[in-house]
Amino acid sequence: MNIYLDNAATTKMSRTAINAMLPYMDTVYGNPSSLHSAGQTAAEALTRARQQISRCIGAEPEEIIFTSGGSEADNQAIISAAQMGRKKGKSHIVSTAFEHHAVLHTLKKMEKEGFEITLLDVHENGVVLPDQVEAAIRDDTCLVTVMYANNEIGTIQPIEEIGRICRARNVLFHTDAVQAAGQLEINVKEQNIDMLSLAAHKFHGPKGIGILYAKKGAALTPLIQGGAQERGRRAGTENISGIMGMAAALEEACAHMEDNSRRLRVLRDQLIAGLSQIPHSILNGDAEKRLPNNVNFCFEGIEGESLLLLLDDKGICASSGSACTSGSLDPSHVLLAIGRVHDVAHGSLRLTLSAENTEEQITYTIKAVKEAVEYLRSISPVWRDLVSGKRDFIIK
Ligand SMILES: *Cc1c(COP(=O)(O)O)cnc(C)c1O
Repeated sequence: MNIYLDNAATTKMSRTAINAMLPYMDTVYGNPSSLHSAGQTAAEALTRARQQISRCIGAEPEEIIFTSGGSEADNQAIISAAQMGRKKGKSHIVSTAFEHHAVLHTLKKMEKEGFEITLLDVHENGVVLPDQVEAAIRDDTCLVTVMYANNEIGTIQPIEEIGRICRARNVLFHTDAVQAAGQLEINVKEQNIDMLSLAAHKFHGPKGIGILYAKKGAALTPLIQGGAQERGRRAGTENISGIMGMAAALEEACAHMEDNSRRLRVLRDQLIAGLSQIPHSILNGDAEKRLPNNVNFCFEGIEGESLLLLLDDKGICASSGSACTSGSLDPSHVLLAIGRVHDVAHGSLRLTLSAENTEEQITYTIKAVKEAVEYLRSISPVWRDLVSGKRDFIIK
């Protein structure tokens, strides 16, 4: 068995995306800034990709800026909004406690530069309420940035309502929609989104390419200085093959979104039902307001990392959902944000599906996780204390 259940980390490229890229790594190699025909052929492809992508998200082609991925798009959105705000004497930013680090670390940087950051609580179900956003906005607020769907627990945020509030209060609204693309409807106009980030490798496109959508009139701060590419908003010769692959992948993902989501929801709910049978386990994040492909559990008395290794032995690629960066054993900031205590947060497992997964794989995975959790508990001193009553269970 070889089962890939880590699609929130990255996805396998689709055949369509690969095929769309091939000519641009082979015969069409001109620089789009060159005036000769080879360059112009590349420039025309770039124009087509921009149109394709803008159609998928309800934007105008000139509102699409190509970046190196989701992180760069998040950085540029926040830094730009902050600088636009500062010019108007506004230095307050509203976000949530469980954003991706590309957002949180950029906010930290802005804080050092004198901005005040309000991080909203996301409650036990991992969903922020529009009223909280409304209440947090002040006269000096220059930006609200709230992710569309969380990358660890898959919870979906009420971005349309947040967009409406921001528009009414005249505050810029950015959303990190990296996990939403291909799974949830995106229409920047209808949803009142001023800036939005996407990463191709999360929707079966290539790695190292993404987009920042920025509403017409937004003054973007370039993170990279140099040539006049992307109308001066992002210098450097364009990654044409990546862009072509991304455009094809996004178009394909959007075309199949409803069918895929319907199918994935069934598999997801089978997985949730199966894993819920494990005693002292809990689903992280709202069961309803949740990406069609996301399952995230905590199992008391075990270490998520050990569980991952056992599952890997059984052919299952999963994640603990926590980036245990550089050997530090800090539990996931997302799980802490929804109120999981450290001990429980350490026993997490994230399984994220794609259209390639089958019912047989789900059945096999449920069995494998049950066995692995049982085994890890059988050798865990913490578990022994819990069972003997020396310690109280946190997850009932
Ligand atoms: C993956 C991810 C990112 C980062 O995207 P990269 O393309 O890897 O830079 C940002 N935000 C979210 C929600 C993500 O899931």
